[in-house]
This record gives sequence, C-alpha cells and structure tokens, in this order.
Amino acid sequence: MSAFIGRSRCWPAVPVCLLLAACGGPTEPEPATPVSRSSAHFDFESTTADATAAEMDLGISLAETHYEAIANLVGANHLPGRKIKVILEGPFRPDRSAGFVDDQGNVHLSRYRDDLGGYFGSLPHEVAHAFRYTYWHRFNIGPWENFGFIEEGFAEFVAQQVYPEKGGFPFYGYPEDVVVGHMLIRGDAIPMQVMRDRHELNTPCQWQTYPLRASWFRYVDETYGRAAVLAIAYAEVETTNEMIAGLLGVAIAQVDADWDLWLRARYAAIPNAEAVAQAYLARFGDEPTCRAGVDY
Ligand SMILES: [Zn+2]
Repeated sequence: MSAFIGRSRCWPAVPVCLLLAACGGPTEPEPATPVSRSSAHFDFESTTADATAAEMDLGISLAETHYEAIANLVGANHLPGRKIKVILEGPFRPDRSAGFVDDQGNVHLSRYRDDLGGYFGSLPHEVAHAFRYTYWHRFNIGPWENFGFIEEGFAEFVAQQVYPEKGGFPFYGYPEDVVVGHMLIRGDAIPMQVMRDRHELNTPCQWQTYPLRASWFRYVDETYGRAAVLAIAYAEVETTNEMIAGLLGVAIAQVDADWDLWLRARYAAIPNAEAVAQAYLARFGDEPTCRAGVDY
C-alpha cells in the first residue's frame, strides 16, 4: 500500500474533511476485493466487491439450511452431483435476470431492497433448480412441451415448502392461498393448460405464472401425495398429460378443475383473506397482468 493511498480519501482536496468522522478516519481502506465462502454443499463467490462478508455469511448459512430441507423433500436419490456455486452479482439491474441458474448449474443472485427480499428472497427457488441440474443432464430433458411448467412450478413449490416466510418474488411472505385464490376469484388466473402449452408466457406473465404453478403443485402434493409430485418432477419419460393422468389416476383437465374448486374453498375459509389480498395488491397490483384474448 503506497503512502499516497494511505491518506484520507478527502485529503488534500478538501482538508476540512479530516475533521469529520464521516470521512472514515485518516486512513483510506484497502481497495475492496470480492469475498468468498465455502461450506459443505456450497461455494459462494461474488462478481463485485459490493457483496459484503456479512451477506456472504448470511447467504451461505441460509443456503445450507435450505439444502437440508430440500434434500429431505426430494429424497436421497435426487441430491446434486456436486457442490453448488452461488454467485452474488451486486444490486439488481433491470437489464439482466436477477435470479437464475446458468447452463453450468451455478446460481446467480442480485440484491433487491430489503423489503423485496434482499439478496436471498429467491435463494430457495434457485437452489431447488440447482438441485435438479444433475437430473436435467442425466435425462437430457428440455424439449418436453410442458417442461417449463414443471421446472418452474416445482421450484417455487419447493421454495414455499422449505421457506414460506421468504420475502421475495412472487409471494413476498404473503399467504399463497390468498395471493392465488384472489387471482382466481378476480378472473386473472391463466388456465393451467395454457401455461403447460405456452411456456413463453412465463416471464411476461410472471406475476400470474409463478404463483399459479406453485399452487397447482401444492394441490397435487396435498391430494395425491409427495410421491406423486416427485414422480412428475423427476420423471424419466416425457411428462405428457397422459403420463401425468396415468400417475394420478385422473385426467389432467379434471385435476385442473379440482384444483380450482380446492383453492376457492381454501380461500373462502380464510376469514381476512380479502383484506390480506388487498394489502398484497396495494404493493404489487400495478405489475403487468396478462389477459385472455389479448396476451394468450
Ligand atoms: Zn425459476
């Protein structure tokens, strides 16, 4: 470290700053370098010096907690084949995806405001995807027509199972049955079969697609059992509607119709559902809504 760098950031251009605690004292800190962390199942890195040691510590601790819960959910035969890399990319920017798993199986996260989930609101969802990386490659899946529906629906279902208090998209800690039930009642629910057929709606209609698919998986879980969910999510043959109907013993159109009735009944049984739904909409009601006949 040179003597020059050892001076205050403010000196000598604005000497008065030397008197102010806000200047950070007489010694400028070393130029920051990205920090990293490793644990039993994760390597945390950062593309910027902006992710702090405290964020690394919190993130990797949360990730290990999620790992254990997700491992319990999916079972020992569906564990990742190796450690999961998580890359912290600094503040959210609208020109890039804020949370995703890349083609190497690495999780990328951006930092939102604390009241929008901060860095780790989407961590359990993305870790659920990363868990499936080994599975994707074993079966070379991806061309399946409804793969996107199952991949994204299962990831958010898992996230809601293991960390329902998460403050991130799409529920932000609000009750799933209220958020999705109100969507259904006010007529904003995209039909399940439309989402299975048209995964290109995933992102433009994300305020509908993510909550709806997670709720469908919850319904299948509570009605047909965890084994049925895992048989769909980790299928070794193409998950056609006929294949899913064969697993559940019910035609898929009937499963969708039964989900609708199930969710309406659950919503109706929540005493303050309308007030909670309005609180959610007061925060997020201005987000884009896809319409039948217009967007699909
Ligand atoms: Zn996802």
